[in-house]
Amino acid sequence: MDPLPEHNISGIEYGDRRHFRYAGPPLFDVHAHVTRTKPDTKDALPAEPALDQGETMLAVAEEFGVARIWSMCPPEDIGPLRERFGRRLGFNGPISKKLEEPDDVAYQLLDRFLSAGVDIIKFWGAPRGHDRGLFVDAPWRIEAARRARGAGVRVVMVHVADPDTWFRTTYADAAKFGTKPDQYTRLRRLLEEFTDLRWIAAHMGGDPEHPDHLEELLESYPHLYFDTSATKWQVREVSAHREAVRSLIVRRPDRFLFGSDLVTRHGLPREHYISRYWCHRTLWETTWEGRSPIADPDFTPAPDGLSTPALLGLGLPPNVLAQVYHDNAAKLLG
Ligand SMILES: [Zn+2]
Repeated sequence: MDPLPEHNISGIEYGDRRHFRYAGPPLFDVHAHVTRTKPDTKDALPAEPALDQGETMLAVAEEFGVARIWSMCPPEDIGPLRERFGRRLGFNGPISKKLEEPDDVAYQLLDRFLSAGVDIIKFWGAPRGHDRGLFVDAPWRIEAARRARGAGVRVVMVHVADPDTWFRTTYADAAKFGTKPDQYTRLRRLLEEFTDLRWIAAHMGGDPEHPDHLEELLESYPHLYFDTSATKWQVREVSAHREAVRSLIVRRPDRFLFGSDLVTRHGLPREHYISRYWCHRTLWETTWEGRSPIADPDFTPAPDGLSTPALLGLGLPPNVLAQVYHDNAAKLLG
């Protein structure tokens, strides 16, 4: 028998959704990567990029009540995606460049995104990108934010930090990567410089492990929001800090936005997409308790031998869910 796949290592029945509770307006997923996809060309002939994975993902999204998705994709994908999926997709332009490239490369990329009509721009600045110059507050990014603002963009998404577990492993060399708290100095700098923009710090601000820190950020910066994306990370850490995260969202329901971080990839089975939306809805809206059905390489198996972390649903109240799932994104992104 084949081993069970990473998207369902506990052999769960994803068709069972009787525990879902939400019945409000449709969900908006503000953090995903719907792109055209093609096979790895290492051992195959180069192929035309295709929309079939996007087709599958959007069909699954619809099944889970997700009506609109903001996608990060290369600028050349926006036209074909928009033509095929219309208003079901909005776009977010990741602004990046290689270390040795002049700043103009980033500005030209920004211009392509702006003329394609993006609603958001994104600065990815995880510690593992720092040796490539990918700081969220690199001077060329600050200038890109100014130019985007001048062109009418009102929302910037940032990836600032990674899971606590990575700072004990991948990033253990604090002299090179900085500590996790160090990462937030750069975010604060941006928040203080651009008070007229709205900032979405991805992946629960990169710190679901410390709801008190998230609350302090929300209190200090009224133009800051968090998205709920990154399924394995949020399932593991939100469940581990269940009461604190729940009460934070209930106190600040206008500052959280639903996001999945789903990525289209050539050859992914439909159930991969199902697993992520199933886990998210189970986590936020239900009081389901069990093991996460998704393999999690960042989880240290417990002494009881369980190989995935607990998934403990927050059971957020309906009015809070309506804001997180729909209203906040509708307000911010129109
Ligand atoms: Zn992402």
